[in-house]
Formats: sequence, C-alpha cells, structure tokens
Amino acid sequence: MDDFHSDEAGREARREPADFGSGQIANTYCDVSLPVPLDQAFTYSLPETLRHRVQAGCRIVVPFGPRKLTGVVIAAHNDAPEQAVREALRLIDEEPVLDASLLALGRWIAGYYCAPLGEVLRSMLPLAAETRSGKIYQLTDSGRDAARQLLLEANPDDAVAQVLALLERRSLSLTYLKKKLPLAANAIRSLEKKGFIAAEDVVSDRDPIRSPAEHLRVSLGGASEASGLLKLPKAERELLAFLELHPGSHNLAELEGTVKNAGTAARALAKRSLVTLEREPLSISGARERAPHALNSAQQAAFDQIRAAIEQREFRVFLMHGVTGSGKTEVYLNAIDAALAAGRGALLLVPEIALTPAMAGEFFARFGERVAILHSAFSDSERAGQWRRIRKGQASVVVGTRSGVFAPVQHLGLIIVDEEHDSSYKQEETPRYNGRDTAIMRAQHAGACVVLGSATPSLESRFNAERSKYTLLTLPERIQQRPMPRVDLIDMRQEFLETRKVATFSRALVDAVTERLASGEQTMLLLNRRGFSSFVACRSCGHRIECQNCSITMTFHKRDRRLLCHMCNYARKVPSVCPKCESEHIYFLGTGSEKVEDELHAQFPEARIARLDRDTVTGKKHYEHILHGFREKQFDILVGTQMIAKGHDIPNVTLVGVVSADVGLGMPDFRAAERTFQLLTQVAGRAGRGDLPGIVLVQTINPDHYAVRLSAAQDYEAFYQKEIQFRRFMHYPPFSAMANVLVRAIRQEDALRMATELDLHIKPLPENIKVLGPAEAPVLRIKTEYRYQFLVKSSSRKALNELLQKAREFARGRKWGATALMMDVDPLSLM
Ligand code: ADP
Ligand code: ZN
Ligand code: ZN
Repeated sequence: MDDFHSDEAGREARREPADFGSGQIANTYCDVSLPVPLDQAFTYSLPETLRHRVQAGCRIVVPFGPRKLTGVVIAAHNDAPEQAVREALRLIDEEPVLDASLLALGRWIAGYYCAPLGEVLRSMLPLAAETRSGKIYQLTDSGRDAARQLLLEANPDDAVAQVLALLERRSLSLTYLKKKLPLAANAIRSLEKKGFIAAEDVVSDRDPIRSPAEHLRVSLGGASEASGLLKLPKAERELLAFLELHPGSHNLAELEGTVKNAGTAARALAKRSLVTLEREPLSISGARERAPHALNSAQQAAFDQIRAAIEQREFRVFLMHGVTGSGKTEVYLNAIDAALAAGRGALLLVPEIALTPAMAGEFFARFGERVAILHSAFSDSERAGQWRRIRKGQASVVVGTRSGVFAPVQHLGLIIVDEEHDSSYKQEETPRYNGRDTAIMRAQHAGACVVLGSATPSLESRFNAERSKYTLLTLPERIQQRPMPRVDLIDMRQEFLETRKVATFSRALVDAVTERLASGEQTMLLLNRRGFSSFVACRSCGHRIECQNCSITMTFHKRDRRLLCHMCNYARKVPSVCPKCESEHIYFLGTGSEKVEDELHAQFPEARIARLDRDTVTGKKHYEHILHGFREKQFDILVGTQMIAKGHDIPNVTLVGVVSADVGLGMPDFRAAERTFQLLTQVAGRAGRGDLPGIVLVQTINPDHYAVRLSAAQDYEAFYQKEIQFRRFMHYPPFSAMANVLVRAIRQEDALRMATELDLHIKPLPENIKVLGPAEAPVLRIKTEYRYQFLVKSSSRKALNELLQKAREFARGRKWGATALMMDVDPLSLM
C-alpha cells in the first residue's frame, strides 16, 4: 500500500488556515466533497452566519443543480474562486464528524481504490443511510408554475399529476410519497430531472415511542419538575413517582412487572417530555457471560507480544494464526484490556454475520458502558448515537463490522480484525475498500497496533508474515488439549460404484446422523448452494433456463414454486414446457440447501431440522433465532450454506457433514482453492468444541484436490506452501497488484465498442503491467448489463494505480455514464 498522504492531501494542508474551532478566523468559502461520481470538490461561498462555524470534516447542505445535497467540508478558506459560486445552505455539524486523520484516511481510500472522494466520505459516515433515504421533496418555483398548468390539464390519474398535487400542499418525504403512490418512482425521477421538484436530505430520527417495551429504556425527562402541577392519570403518576425514587433508566418491559400499566403510561408521558424513552443499546439476551479465563501458555505468549507493542505505542501488525477453538477471543479481550490500561481506545472488527446480540452481550459483560456496538440492524439514529459516544470518548471499545473501521475512536491504540480472511470485509460497491487493509492504514497513521486473527489466514496476510512485514503469532492447539476433529473424505464416485445410486447422502453420513439422533448429539450439514435445484433443463433439446437479465441459469426454489436468479433476484414461474422446443420433458438438476433439508425430512422423519441460508434468514433476528434454537437443542440438525461455517461455538455438535466439497472448486477464479480450503476448514472446526469429540464427513468427487485433501488433514501450512507457489508462478496476488476492470452497457455492442476504445487508449502498456482482456466477463450479463473485463496485474502498485487513473480520465473525457466503468482494486471476486 502506498503512503497515507497523497499529494492532494499535502496541497490542502498548505492551504491557508482552515479555522479549527477557535471561532476567530472567518472563512468566506468552503470546498465540499459531494456524494456524486465526480472526482472533484465543489466550492461554495458561506453566508455570514456560517463563516465562523464551518470547519473541515463538518457536513453541510449545499445546492447542486436543482437538488440539495449533503456533503463534507474538506477545507474552509478565503481564496476567492475564479468563477461565481453558489452559497451553502445549512451546516449540519458544529463539530467535525470526520477529524483530520479520518479525512486523510478517506483520501487514501479514494486514491488507492480509485473511487470518488465524496462517495468515500459518505460511506465513512454513520449516517450514510440517512443521506440516501431521508429525502424530503418540495416543489421548486418552476415546479409551482408547472403544477398550476398541469393540474388544470392533466388526467388526475396520471402519476406526475398526483405527485405534483400532493406536493402543492406541502413538502413530503420520499418514503411517504412512495407509500401513498406506489407507482410514482418514475414520475418523481422525471420531475426531479426537469427541476420541478427538489429533494433535501434530512437527518431522520426514528421515533422510539413505537418500539416494543422490551427494547425501550425509560428515565425521567427534562420537564419533570412540573409534574406536581399536572393532573395525571394514576398510572402515570405512579410511574413518575417510581422513577423519582429509582433514578437512572429502566427497561420498560421489566418495569411493567413493578408498575401497573407502565408501558402505556411511559408512552403518554414521553409525548409531554415528562419521561425520556430510548431504545435499548442492544438486547443482551443469550449472552454467555463468562469469567475471564487464565490464559494458556500459547495465548499468554501471543498476548505478551501484543501488550508490549501497545505499551510501546508503535505501529505493528500481528497475524494471529490460531486453529479453530484455540481461544483467540480470549487473547483479543486481554489485548483490549491492555489498550485501555494504556489509556487508549480499541476497535474490534468482525465479519458481517458474526456480530450477533450474543456476541455484543459478551462485550457488555466484560467492558460495560465503555462499549459501543456499530450494528447494521440499528436504526440511523441509534448508530448516530453510538458514533457520538465514541467521538466524545465515552465509549473506548468499539465492536463493529466493515464500516466500523471508520469509528472515531479516540486515542486509538489497537485494532483487531477477527477472521481477517473473511470476504465480507470487502465492500462490493463503490468504494470497494477492504476493511482489513483500511484498518492497517489507519493504525499506521495512529501509531496503533493491529491484530489480524484467523484459523485460515488469507494468503496475502500469511505471506506478509513470511516477509516479516507482520509478526506471526501461533495458537497451534485447541483449548484444554481438546483434539481437532477427525475428518474423513468420502469419495462419492466410489459410493456410486458400490451402490449404483446417485444419492445426496452417502451411507456413512446416514449412519453417522442416525447415531447422533440416537445419542442426542447434534449435526451440522453444509451445502454451499441455496435453493432446491441449481438449474432447470430440457431433456429433449438441452436448453437451460436462464435469467432474462443475466447470463446465468435460474435456481429452482421449491417452497415458493418458482425459479429465482441469484444475481438479480428476478423470479418466474416454472414453465410446464420447454420455452425453446415445447417439449414437456423438463427436469431439475443439481442440489441446493433446500433440497438437502427436504431429503433429510424424508430420510429422518423424526428429526427436528432447521435451515440457515439467505432464504430462511431475512433479518439479523431470524439468524439469531435459528442459531439460538439450535444452541438450546431445539433442533437435531442444522442445514445451511456458508452461513453456518462462521465462528459458532456450539458444544453439543459432534458431527459436521459437508454434502459436497466441490461446489466452489469449479469457479473461474484464482482464489477458488483458497476459498474452498477456508470454508472446509472453518466448517470442520465447528465439530467437537465441547467435551465430546467430533467427526467431520466430507463428501466429494475431488478427494485428491489439494484444497480438499489438506483441509481434511487440517494442514494450513502445507496448503499455504502449495498455494503460494501457484500464485508466484502465475504472478497472482500477493506477487502482483491486481485490479478487475469492467466496462458495462445495456447493449452488448456498446459494451464491446467501449471496451475496445479503452483498450486502444491504455496501449502501449508499460512494461511492468499485464492486462488480460478485454474479454467477456465470466458472467457476461448481470442485471441487464453486458460486461467486458480487463484483468490488470502489475508488479508495481504505483504503475497499476496510474493505469487505472488513466482509464478513469478516458471514461470521463468520453462522458461515459457513472456506472459504465467499474474498478475493483484487490478484487476478491472476479465474476
Ligand atoms: P477460537 O475463536 O479460536 O475458535 P474461542 O475464542 O471461541 O476459539 O475459544 C474456544 C472456547 O475456549 C471458548 O468457549 C472459550 O471460552 C474457551 N477458552 C478460551 N481460552 C480459554 C482458556 N485459557 N481456558 C479455558 N477455556 C478457554
Ligand atoms: Zn427443449
Ligand atoms: Zn438475473
């Protein structure tokens, strides 16, 4: 990675004094970075009232074309621009939401990942969602005129007329408009384009009053002195009396046990500000409170090194490679203690799916009020609340997913990235940053220490440890010398030869499940493919049913009796005849998790079975609910996709079955082997974590593939050695810097032409750059867009970046649409 300070940052730093809060220097102008796909900041003049208040890092509302947009001030100054500029409208923050170091981090991301700064800054803020969804529409002046005309003439059923009619009376939120007029989306867009209506992004606070009682905390409100003067109903008086006697905040559901009708009373009082209702920080139900363990010697040795680095206040990156069940979490907790003891803050990043209320609960139990949790299930206002606590230094331990890396932790001393290999750290939309790598840049800037933890470190991280860029810490054994689970490979080709049947489950797997059902132990079954059948084909002509928007086959989902595209979610009915030749011989091929569940029910009618995949899990709650049920032994078997492989610690699971280890191996992606190895190792690690030993049965038709074989042997080192050779030989990362560049267009000929033009423009290539393509992307068409791919590899990060910038300039010069050129630096997926 390049140096943190880009040239641009240097230039801005030299610019005349942006006023940092002293309130003495008046600035007449400010440069604002806006969430638009353009690579520039926009200058606005400041009205008198804002001149002393605007600082770099504050959000500000400015006019942009016919719209109002919220952007981030990147500099306030007195350099008069050459052209006339418009005036800023409203300052949102009196204090910067992004401090100088976070702004610098944003610049680094924009440069390194080739993304517009405004979009980077937007995704760094906790309030990203509100700037997108909290739109309030109003008529513009020309809109008012147009409305008068149109409403006289137009058909009242016309969507455009309806929108105008509603907005004639007052400003309305987009959410309201959409609810009222479900078909108005297009009308709103076209009216906005014409400049007849304009949106303002607003900070929306979700009303807590409507939340269920168990999610609310109640405390005395500001207006309570007046309570004696008011004639209140009995329940409300009693509640106030109780709160006066018991200061602090109370869970409303619990209060209902003590004070009759507390729920209703509290809501009524809250409306008059006599009490305050707030949402519970996070339900900590299901938290497994545990006393700190005395570290074993491997944990202690790892911790000692981390503590020393924290105390020396130096930037260091540790890669903690600990087998599944080796107690990495305990080391994290101790490291956080050490950071706090040194007067510094700590940040723990976890993969998307791992941040459950149970996990949050553990942190509350250990660190109490000092913890802030940044959870995507939170509402905007809750997240904003957490963010402010962190900024003020009230919370010095922060747990969050990918975007948590931007939390304004004060005096940051430690960043832990758990399961550092996990692909959810990579954002799959602009800006396509990797949270792990961003964490390292941030730590470097802050002089903080980084701990990357995993049982299956990414090749990149392990290679950095080999080169001594990172310090390797190893936890080679499970806690209390528990054995690693035994892994048996089951060759499904052999199984077929012996049974003459194509079966989803081998005899060995059936026997093993039967035993578990008899003994009351639990089973997890992985099949990393959702749906029922993976495709639908015609026996007569061989036609396979593809999505109308994407060039992939559609998956049959039996429960909804329809075909679903896993790329764009387009759904259609299952045809009764072949759409191509009208034959009736349609058949279903391939197995998904839904079919596994079905077949399990057929084979083990008495078993209690739950399924965990994206079809059964619609929200975080569902996920937690199913896992909780499984932990509480309400189910015997849990079937699922890779969702079940991550981090769960369920002691009663003694059998893990992998229905097919082959699902990911055929992918046209140089990481296919690494991903398969990680998935199999992680899922195998779910077995035998309690006092009972576990076994793992892996069904495969590739028993000799090194990723399958070495995951069965749980031999990370051997896998790493083999895979790193392949990468070196092929000049793949970590031996080169790579970017995936796509040129996209609705019409195939446009995409092809643009790709060819770009190809000509970047040639001749510098010597240290290799480009594969342009070629059809592995999936040619996604969401109605055709895609041509350039895979760019270079031994020089700088050369790669320059080439990408050159391509961006070309696209800009040609006025390509905002999404026509997609760039993914350090891509994890090449589809
Ligand atoms: P990992 O994340 O490495 O897979 P965990 O951190 O989940 O492993 O630890 C596995 C189990 O071992 C947990 O139940 C944890 O409470 C327990 N544990 C961790 N360290 C110790 C220790 N030093 N002594 C006893 N039990 C421990
Ligand atoms: Zn056919
Ligand atoms: Zn599709």
